[in-house]
Amino acid sequence: MADHMIVCTDQTPISKPTNHAHIVSVGVDKDRDGYADQKHELQQVVRAIDSGDHRYYTYGLSSGKVAWVETVDCPSHCGERIIRSMRDAKTDNNLDSLRRCRWQ
Ligand SMILES: [Zn+2]
Repeated sequence: MADHMIVCTDQTPISKPTNHAHIVSVGVDKDRDGYADQKHELQQVVRAIDSGDHRYYTYGLSSGKVAWVETVDCPSHCGERIIRSMRDAKTDNNLDSLRRCRWQ
């Protein structure tokens, strides 16, 4: 069991509607310097959370609060299993408000 801090996301729109975007992978900060060190694919994250092997969270710099990440079936009924911040997330630590990853 390990806890991983997500600092950025990669999103890809899947066919339609065009505003229906999914997180396809996330950047994990291992050494807490604010930069992504590892890329974790969505399926890897979903499997790790659902099996209880790992937990993922985001951290809000201005709120100082951690938001845990959970898995859900996509609310748009596309059949995908996706990740999102739990309901008590603040704006600044919500998965959706993280920056996009820039992989070298
Ligand atoms: Zn979907």
